Amino acid sequence: MISVVIPLYNEESVIPKLEQRLVDAAPLWGEEYEIILVDDGSSDNSLELLKVIANKYSFFKIIQLSRNFGHQAAISAGIKIAKGDAVVIMDGDLQDPPEELPRFLAKWKEGYDVVYAIRTRRKEGLIKRVSYFLFYRILGWISEIAIPLDSGDFCVMDKKVVRALNYEFPENIRFIRGLRAFAGFKQVGLTYERAERAAGDVKYTFPKLLQLALDGIFGFSTFPLRLSTYLGIFISIPSFCIGIFFIIHRILDFKIMGYSPSDTPGLATLGVGMFFLGGIMLIILGIIGEYLGRIYVEVKRRPFYIIDEIITSKSDVDNNHLNTEDKKLF
Ligand code: UDP
Ligand code: MG
Repeated sequence: MISVVIPLYNEESVIPKLEQRLVDAAPLWGEEYEIILVDDGSSDNSLELLKVIANKYSFFKIIQLSRNFGHQAAISAGIKIAKGDAVVIMDGDLQDPPEELPRFLAKWKEGYDVVYAIRTRRKEGLIKRVSYFLFYRILGWISEIAIPLDSGDFCVMDKKVVRALNYEFPENIRFIRGLRAFAGFKQVGLTYERAERAAGDVKYTFPKLLQLALDGIFGFSTFPLRLSTYLGIFISIPSFCIGIFFIIHRILDFKIMGYSPSDTPGLATLGVGMFFLGGIMLIILGIIGEYLGRIYVEVKRRPFYIIDEIITSKSDVDNNHLNTEDKKLF
């Protein structure tokens, strides 16, 4: 059996299309299936539409979160409930076509534990494409583990990987594509063309996207912390040489470009140096702050999502795959 997990936030305009495409594509998957739609605290009519769907088909399961916790948290909630032997993660806006799944599932059946999708072409604005391109390159360069380039959350995972994600990673800040790479197992990437959003506006607003990018970088690399050491060395070696030169220059008091030290007050040198170093120190402080803030979030141990309700047309929620702790919740 396979579970398909789809997070949704204010997607009322896409949901009817999504329902149609899923219902049409599901028979092609060649397995029994459940489709878990996670409502990430939508403020529009999404939840009502989802409830209707759950009433119509028994293979739909709706998880209603208590508020908007964000895409990564919504996925985390979905894969916790998923009980399939393979779990699929995809976006709700049909940018990850459900018709592509048979190719991915075939790889899983071949014995791969993670089949992740690599986007070949993005139908998005230039700025977004360039930012994504740079982000994945920088992340790949500085992260301690190899996170595949240009692959988002769209993937098929074997249940042992899902189990690891659910139970072996205690962290609250969930950068799923990074955790998935960290988890290891037999992984393979398949390319696909990312479609355009089927309807509605992008729900990943700029602040949310920036948050995701920072979670990826600061969650998977300590390189930024080391940056201050490198910068310090980079700046202090030439500074030391210049300092020695200044002393010699002062003692010998010879002219450079018509001036000798006795008639140049040196304000420019001081001013530039001060502002430059001040700027660098603020950046470094900010970087330390990023880690500190994340440590704070992690030590608080707050839940990263809260489930309000699970809605299915079946009378009881099947929870045999959960550990005893979670069984009490569902
Ligand atoms: N989404 C979510 N919670 C959020 C933001 C987005 O569950 O806070 C969902 C959204 O409904 C969609 C998926 O995450 O199914 C991807 O979002 P979107 O298409 O807006 O972003 P993209 O990845 O295309 O930039
Ligand atoms: Mg999208």
